[in-house]
Amino acid sequence: MSVVTRFAPSPTGFLHIGGARTALFNWLFARHHGGRFLLRIEDTDRERSTQAAVEAIFDGLAWLGLDWDEEPVMQFSRAGRHAEVARELLAKGQAYHCYCTPEELARMREEQKANGQPMRYDGRWRDRDPSEAPEGVAPVIRMKAPREGETVIRDHVQGDVTFANAQLDDMILLRGDGTPTYMLSVVVDDHDMGITHVIRGDDHLTNAARQTALYRACGWDVPEFAHIPLIHGPDGAKLSKRHGALGAEAYRDMGILPAALRNYLLRLGWGHGDDEIISTEQAVEWFDIGAVGKGPSRFDMTKLMSLNAHYLRETPDAELAALVAPLMEKALGAALPADAAGRILRGMPGLKPRAKDLNELAEGAMVYARMRPLGFDDKAKAQVAEAGGLLAEARGLLAGTAEWRHDALEAAVRGLAEARGLKLGKVAQPLRAAVTGSTVSPPLFEVMEILGREEVLARLDEAAK
Ligand code: GLU
Repeated sequence: MSVVTRFAPSPTGFLHIGGARTALFNWLFARHHGGRFLLRIEDTDRERSTQAAVEAIFDGLAWLGLDWDEEPVMQFSRAGRHAEVARELLAKGQAYHCYCTPEELARMREEQKANGQPMRYDGRWRDRDPSEAPEGVAPVIRMKAPREGETVIRDHVQGDVTFANAQLDDMILLRGDGTPTYMLSVVVDDHDMGITHVIRGDDHLTNAARQTALYRACGWDVPEFAHIPLIHGPDGAKLSKRHGALGAEAYRDMGILPAALRNYLLRLGWGHGDDEIISTEQAVEWFDIGAVGKGPSRFDMTKLMSLNAHYLRETPDAELAALVAPLMEKALGAALPADAAGRILRGMPGLKPRAKDLNELAEGAMVYARMRPLGFDDKAKAQVAEAGGLLAEARGLLAGTAEWRHDALEAAVRGLAEARGLKLGKVAQPLRAAVTGSTVSPPLFEVMEILGREEVLARLDEAAK
């Protein structure tokens, strides 16, 4: 059997972190087995579904590198097919018309509540003759669910979970207006799409029992289930925005690399020995849904950022240079100067160990992109002013160095400091301020080498004014 999984988000909001992890697990499972990973947009809630959310889901998945096979299925467009299945079940006697009005259902629930009974539909139309149907009521179609026995979900994560059938009432499949319910749509779509493994949040576990009954009523194979625990915040409470339950685009805006987020999400609930750094290739090779833990996992932003710093260091310089270029252009409000690209690339080995996200990296790289006149921050300005004649002397020495290389430049500045009985920093700090406009930068002499003789001397002249 070839594996087919799916990710089935409701487009009522962005692709949040829990959804992204569900998508990742489905993707990994399919890729591991050489199967297919399908996408279904569950847009049946017409009030709350938006095109913007659909786009955000596509963009988020694409950014995360989770490519799906085939055209995405838009669930609402299949409503006719869903209704057809409900009518087939009706014809086969596996479903029935129920004429209860909303008022009648409300009364039923009141009575059950008053009697301390569980609130569920009591099946009053299950065996009633349709000739008793009241006039003017558009009936719903309900499934004739089994009332005795149990339904066991052999869940790949939760183990065997048993539901007494008496607990599961005859759910509505088709509403009075002919629209399908969520439960019906999911089952028909999963069947028609040939889904072999349903991997989703464990908030759907009870649905799995009802859906199993529906598969059986239809005479269809029940897919394998894996219900993964939800993600909690570091404080153990259900993950919320406050904890960082943001959309994928928010993580992109934070300067997180997709590979880092994939690795992080993978480790939320799944592990391979003590490995913390797991490349996507390794994950595809090793992933096994049965190894997902049963307990909820906790979202930890610090851990995500430290993984991100790791992936940043591992990413080839040219790739990083290409990633920071648009961020830098945004900060500059202009295209990068012509000679900046080469400098940024050469500076990358010195820049990337100092950044934990792309925004920090872009900020660091600005030293190679700023055009004269440089802006000076206040601290830099003060250091330049304080240094006075020292900077002019340094300029003279630097201008005279035969070879414009970091070691020769450092030797020249060191020589000056020694001659003045000063620590290196006393000269290097104002020099850094004058050359970069800031008191923080990658190693100064490396920056100077990359900026080149002409640019550095011009910056020093400018600072002197
Ligand atoms: N659309 C559902 C949700 O976003 C998922 C349904 C499913 O995976 O079966 O929670």
